[in-house]
Amino acid sequence: MISIGIVGGGAAAISLIRQLPHGDRLDVVVYADRPPGPGRAYSEPADSALLNRQVFAMSVSDAWPDEFAEWVAAHAPEHLDDGEHSFVPRALYGRYLAASAESAHAHLGDHLTFVAGRVVDIAPRAGTYRLTVESADGGVVEATHDLVVLALGSSPPADPYRLTGLPSYTGDPYPIDGWLDEVATADAAAVVGTGLSAVDVALALGRGDFAGHLTMCSRNGIVPDARAIVSPLDFDPDISAMILRVTRKRGGLEWQDVLQIVDYLALGEGIRRSEVRAAFGAVARPAGERLAHGSDPTRSVDAAVQRLVIGIAQHYVNEIWSAMTRRARAQFVATAHAPFQALSNPLPAKSAAVLGAMVGDGRLSIRAGVTDIEPTTGGFDIDFAEGGRAAVSQVVNATRTAAGAPSPAAGALVSSLLYRGLAQANPYGGLRVDIISNALLDRSGAAVPGLYVIGEIASGDLYYISSMGKIRRRARSVARQIVDESLRPARTGSAHV
Ligand SMILES: Cc1cc2nc3c(=O)[nH]c(=O)nc-3n(C[C@H](O)[C@H](O)[C@H](O)COP(=O)(O)OP(=O)(O)OC[C@H]3O[C@@H](n4cnc5c(N)ncnc54)[C@H](O)[C@@H]3O)c2cc1C
Repeated sequence: MISIGIVGGGAAAISLIRQLPHGDRLDVVVYADRPPGPGRAYSEPADSALLNRQVFAMSVSDAWPDEFAEWVAAHAPEHLDDGEHSFVPRALYGRYLAASAESAHAHLGDHLTFVAGRVVDIAPRAGTYRLTVESADGGVVEATHDLVVLALGSSPPADPYRLTGLPSYTGDPYPIDGWLDEVATADAAAVVGTGLSAVDVALALGRGDFAGHLTMCSRNGIVPDARAIVSPLDFDPDISAMILRVTRKRGGLEWQDVLQIVDYLALGEGIRRSEVRAAFGAVARPAGERLAHGSDPTRSVDAAVQRLVIGIAQHYVNEIWSAMTRRARAQFVATAHAPFQALSNPLPAKSAAVLGAMVGDGRLSIRAGVTDIEPTTGGFDIDFAEGGRAAVSQVVNATRTAAGAPSPAAGALVSSLLYRGLAQANPYGGLRVDIISNALLDRSGAAVPGLYVIGEIASGDLYYISSMGKIRRRARSVARQIVDESLRPARTGSAHV
C-alpha cells in the first residue's frame, strides 16, 4: 500500500484521481481549500461564460474521451445545440467535475479521502513527505505521504495599474454577478485585457441590457481568433526525429529551425510561409474590424492557419519549446507567443458573433497600446500609446499575472518549496519540472523523487499545459508512475492524516 497526497481539488486533481486504478494498493488523500471539482475556471455560474473547447475535447479521462459528451447528453441535453461540437457553459463543466469526484469516491471508497484545508508546507522525511495543512478555522494538521502531486491551479489576476481598492474598479472578473449590475448601467466602461477573461466580461454585458460603451483594451490588443470548423491535424512522428537531430547537432533549436519545422508542417497542408506570416500579423491587429466584418462576423483570420496552429499546439509545441535555445525562446516570446495563443485558443464562433454585433452597434471598441490608467473624480482615464485617452466610469480588470505564478491559495506552499530547495523558480514562469516524468526539479536541478506537478505551474518548462486535453494526458502519465511505484517493494514510513 502506498499513500498519495494530492494538493488542490480542481480539474487536474479530479482528472488524476479518475485515472488512478481501483484496488487496495493506493490510499489517496486530496487536500483542497474549496469543495472538490470546479476551481476558478469552472465555478463561474453565468451562462454567458462558455467553455472554449467543444464538449468532445473536455473529458477528464484519457481512456474515456467521450465521457463529458455523454454526461452532457444525459444531464443537460438542451445545451447540445451542435452535438459533441457544442460549446457549453463552464458551470456545467463544474457540475461534471463535481460528479466525477463523487464517482471516484464511489470507486475508491475508503481509499479516497477529501480533506478541507490549505497545504502550506511540504517537508521531506525519511523517503516520505510531511504536509502541513491549515483549515479555514485556523486548525493545523500534519500528514505524511509516500508520494505527493501538486495540482495548484492557474495564476491569479494582476493589478498592472495599481487600482485595487478604488471605487468603480473590479479587480477580478469572476464572479461576473459581483460587478455586472453596476457596470451594465455605466455610459462608458472598460475591461482591461483582451484575452478570454476579457471576452467573458464583454459577453456578459453584450448578452444583457448594457446600452453604454465598453472599451476592451490591453497593451497588445490581441483578441483570440474566432474558431473555424476544422478537422484535427494528423500527428507527424518525423517532427520528433527532426527536433532530436537538430538538438544533437547544435545543442538546441534556433529560431530558424523552429520556422523550418513550421514551414514543413505548413507545406504538408498546402500553406505557404507568407500565409502563416499574414495570419499571425492579422490576428495581432486590434480585432474590431475583423469581428464586425461584413455579413460573417464569426469569420476566423484564416481557417487553414488556425488548424495548423491548433495542431502545432496539440502535438508539437511543448517538445519544440523544451528543445529551443534561450535565444530562440526570447525571439518566440517577443514575436510569436501572443498571436500563437490567439490562434490556438480561438473563441467559440457564437461568442465572436456577439462581440462582432457589439462592435457593429457601437457598444464595443477594441484598442491596443494602453500605457496607463489613472483614477479621476468620475472614474478613470485610460491613456493610449498613440496619444488618445478614454474616460470611463467603471473598470473591470481581466489581466493575469504571468503564467505559472501561484494563486493566493498556493503562495505559502510554493514559497516553502523554494525555501527548502525542493523546487526551483522557472525564469519563464512557475516551477521547474522534468518534462518527461512531471517531477519537480529541486534547487540543484535534480528530479525530486515522488513529488509531481500537474497544471499551469509547469508552464515554464512545458509551455502549453493548461487546456483540459493537456492536463488529462499529464494526469494519466502521473497516474501510471504512481502505479509503477505501488508495484515496487514495500516503502517505509507510509502513513496518513
Ligand atoms: C477562466 C478560465 C477559463 C478556462 N476555460 C477553459 C476551457 O474552456 N477549456 C479548457 O480546456 N481549459 C480551460 N481553462 C484552463 C484549465 O482547464 C483550467 O484552468 C482548469 O481549471 C485547471 O485545473 P487545475 O486543477 O489546474 O486548477 P483549478 O481548477 O483552479 O484547481 C486548483 C485548486 O487547487 C486549490 N489549491 C491551490 N493551492 C492549494 C493549496 N496549497 N492547498 C489546498 N488547495 C489548493 C485552488 O484553490 C483550486 O481550487 C480555463 C482557465 C481559466 C482560468
